[in-house]
Amino acid sequence: MSLIRINQKAYEYNLKEIAKKTEGFERIICVFKDNAYGHGAKLLAPVARELGINFIALKNEKEAWELEGIFENILILSHLPHGNENERFIYALNDISQIKNYKKNTKIHLKIDTGMHRNGVSVQELEYAMALIKKNALKLEGIFTHFANADEMDRSFFVQKEGFEKAKKIAKKYYPDLLTHSYNSAALFRGKIPEDEYCRIGLVQFGYGHKDLKKVLSLYAHRLSQRRLEKGQSIGYGGVFKAKEALEVANYDLGYADGLFRYDGKGKLRLANGKEMLGRMSMDSFSCEDCGEELCVFEDADVWADFFHTINYEILVKLHPDIPRVLV
Ligand SMILES: *Cc1c(COP(=O)(O)O)cnc(C)c1O
Repeated sequence: MSLIRINQKAYEYNLKEIAKKTEGFERIICVFKDNAYGHGAKLLAPVARELGINFIALKNEKEAWELEGIFENILILSHLPHGNENERFIYALNDISQIKNYKKNTKIHLKIDTGMHRNGVSVQELEYAMALIKKNALKLEGIFTHFANADEMDRSFFVQKEGFEKAKKIAKKYYPDLLTHSYNSAALFRGKIPEDEYCRIGLVQFGYGHKDLKKVLSLYAHRLSQRRLEKGQSIGYGGVFKAKEALEVANYDLGYADGLFRYDGKGKLRLANGKEMLGRMSMDSFSCEDCGEELCVFEDADVWADFFHTINYEILVKLHPDIPRVLV
C-alpha cells in the first residue's frame, strides 16, 4: 500500500512561524484548496483549527461542504454563481457580470485586479461594482487581490500593492469594516505586512518557499515483488533499462495513475535514499534496486519538480486523493 505521511509537528511549526509574521493566527487565511495542496484537507483541518485558524480558502462548494463546521469562515475562490449560494460560505466575486447571478444576501469578497489580469474588477471599476453589489443586495464583507510576481524582485509587486491601497481607500469609504487581504506565500516574507490585512497563505504552510520552514509531506511506496536481474536483462516497458551487471531489483506500488509524472526511463530520477528509478514507470508501479519493504519516494517535492521542469505545487497537488494519508 502506498502511503503519505504528514508530519504534524512540522505543520504546526510552520503555522507558528507564519503567525509570527502575521502577528497572530487570526490574521491567517489558510488556503486549503485541492485537498490542502495534496496533503489531505480533512486530516490537517482539525490541526489548523486547534492552533487557532478560523478562516480558510477553498476552490469550490464541494470542498467547502467537506470542511463545513470546522471553521467559522470559508472563502470559496473559484465559484460559478448559480443562484443558490449558501449563507455559511463567503464567495469570491471574480467578475462584475456575475453579480446578478448570485442569490440575494450572499456574503462576498470582491476580487480586485491590480495587475495580474486573471480575475477581478479594476480599481477604476470599483465604485461601479460596489453600486451593483448594493443594488443586487449582496453582502460585501471583503476585498482582495492576488500578486502575479511576488516571488520575483521586480517592480510589479509594488505597483500591485499601490493599486490595492487605492482600492482599500475607496472601498472603506463605503464599508469601513471591510476585510482586506492580498499577501500569498511568496509575499509573506517580503517585508512588512500591511496592518489592516489578513494573509491568504497556501504553500508555505507545507514547508516550501522559505528555508526555515519544515517539509510536511513524504510519500512512500511498498514492495510488490522482488527478483534478481541478470546482466543484460532489462526491466519494464520498452526495456529501456538494461542491467550492466546482476542486480537485486524490486517493484513498488506507485505509478503515474497515483498522480506522479511518468518517468520515461531517461535521466536520473532519484528516490529519497539516492537510488535511481529503473526503466519506465508503469501506471501503478515502478521498479528500482531492492530497497526493502517500504521506500520513501520523496520527502521534498522539489526533487521531482526540478526533474520534470515544473513547480513543487504541481507535484504535490496531483498526488491522488485515494493514497492513504496519516498524521505522524
Ligand atoms: C492558491 C491561492 C492562494 C495561495 O497561494 P500560495 O502561493 O500557495 O500561498 C492565494 N490566493 C488565491 C486567490 C489563490 O488562488
